Amino acid sequence: MQTKTCRSCQKELPLEQFPKNRDARKRRGFTYKSECFSCHAARNRGYNRRHKRRLAKKRRLYYLANREKYLEYMRQYNKGYRQKHRLRLKIRYARWLAYNREHVRQYQQQYHRKYRNISPVITRMLKDKGRLQWETYLNPPGPSPEALAEDSKKSQELILARRG
Ligand SMILES: [Zn+2]
Repeated sequence: MQTKTCRSCQKELPLEQFPKNRDARKRRGFTYKSECFSCHAARNRGYNRRHKRRLAKKRRLYYLANREKYLEYMRQYNKGYRQKHRLRLKIRYARWLAYNREHVRQYQQQYHRKYRNISPVITRMLKDKGRLQWETYLNPPGPSPEALAEDSKKSQELILARRG
C-alpha cells in the first residue's frame, strides 16, 4: 500500500486519504494534495467560520437571483416530502397532539369564546381574511422576481468592481 505523509498532521496515511490535484489529472495521471482529507476539511471549516458573513451574503445573492427557481424547487421538495413521509407525519402529528392536548383544548375554547357571538357573515369574512393572508404568505407582495434579479446583478457587479 502506498502512503504519504500529511504536511499538516505529519501522519503517514494511505494515498486514498489524500485529495487529488485536479489540474494535474488532465495531463499524465494525477498528483495528490499535500494535506490529508481531514486536515483539508478542518481548514475549510475554519474558512467557513471566518467568512461566515461573506458566505451568507453570497447565498443571499444567489437566492435573490434564482428566487423563482428556488421557491419552485422547495415547493416540489416539500410536496415530495409530504407524500413520501405521509405516515411518519401523521404519527408525528398524533404524538404532538397527545402531548399538547390541553393546549389545543384551551386554544379551541378561546377561539370559540371569541367568535361565538359573531354573526355567520363575519365568521365567513374572517375565514376569507385568513385565506387571503395565507395566499399573501405564499405569494408575497413586493418587488418582482425580475427586479430582484436585476438588483442582485447590480450588487454582484459592484462586488466584482471593488475586487478587481
Ligand atoms: Zn492531515
